[in-house]
Amino acid sequence: MKAAVLRTLAEPLTHEELPQPEPAADEVLIRVKACGVCHSDLHIALGEWSQLKGITKLPLIPGHEIAGVVESVGANVTNFKPGDRVGVPWLHYTCGTCEYCQSGRETLCGKQQITGVMVDGGFAEFVKAKASHTVRVPDALSFEEAAPLMCAGLTVYKAMRVAEAKAGQRLAVFGVGGLGHLAIQLGKALGLEVGALDVNNDKLAFAKECGADWTVNVTAEAPHKLIKSQGGGPHIAMVTSGNTVAYDLALRSLRKGGTLAVVGMTPQPISVSTVALVSGEFRIVSSAVGTRADLEAVLAMAAEGKLKCHYETRPLEAINEVFDAMKAGQLTGRVVLTL
Ligand SMILES: [Zn+2]
Ligand SMILES: [Zn+2]
Repeated sequence: MKAAVLRTLAEPLTHEELPQPEPAADEVLIRVKACGVCHSDLHIALGEWSQLKGITKLPLIPGHEIAGVVESVGANVTNFKPGDRVGVPWLHYTCGTCEYCQSGRETLCGKQQITGVMVDGGFAEFVKAKASHTVRVPDALSFEEAAPLMCAGLTVYKAMRVAEAKAGQRLAVFGVGGLGHLAIQLGKALGLEVGALDVNNDKLAFAKECGADWTVNVTAEAPHKLIKSQGGGPHIAMVTSGNTVAYDLALRSLRKGGTLAVVGMTPQPISVSTVALVSGEFRIVSSAVGTRADLEAVLAMAAEGKLKCHYETRPLEAINEVFDAMKAGQLTGRVVLTL
């Protein structure tokens, strides 16, 4: 099979012909139709995140936003059959028995294995996955539409859940990128009033197309005042950008009792005034990807047309150029590799 392989951290992926994987008794073999390229893939390939660097298998086939068709199933698999349309997310495996798995928080499982980090992922013609952690892709979604939901869509959905977003509340989304544009649509679908913030007017125009009720360019003078002028500030400020300035602004813009939802990861620590935190009784919540139940909910919402990831397709062979464009900050939407 064709595969893009990371042999050495911070080196380009190599295009190789590898043997097709054999599914174990509890696994399915999937013919990959589409695989999204997530910013995490680039960080992993560069070895930039120390927490993941130590557990990254080499050589590795990256990719954790996988959609495809079941090719064959292991001896013990009863929930899938060849021809089923399926997806595979970041969580390749969780134990099911630890305190986190037992309390609906499998994203915290200490025995978790990660697709495209600890086991081979979807930048290949075939991938094997645990049948227990493989999800069905609704017929209403194409493989290209479904793939980015496996990580990007799932991540913002879960963040909205932990922020306890409720209809009628105000949500401000900081950063209109791959995650941000999905957060805007999700917020609207959940009945919130949604504002979008970015440094780029084109992205703010795009935010309006995604349903944002109002936008603020954060390079304007005193942007926190402009945000506060929208009904006293948001109940939830969700930061999807990896910029510390966005976090500062988000905290200054929140209404009293509001929630800062940490989604975008910054290279430097963010600073928080405990005085401001206490006097505003702010809450800070964070969220990593999502559970299988979250993923099913996201896919169902997308199948109903409430959530559409904007993407462009590229062939698997273009992965190194996609990484280069990502590094240079030249990508505007999600890239989905097609096979
Ligand atoms: Zn991801
Ligand atoms: Zn567990």
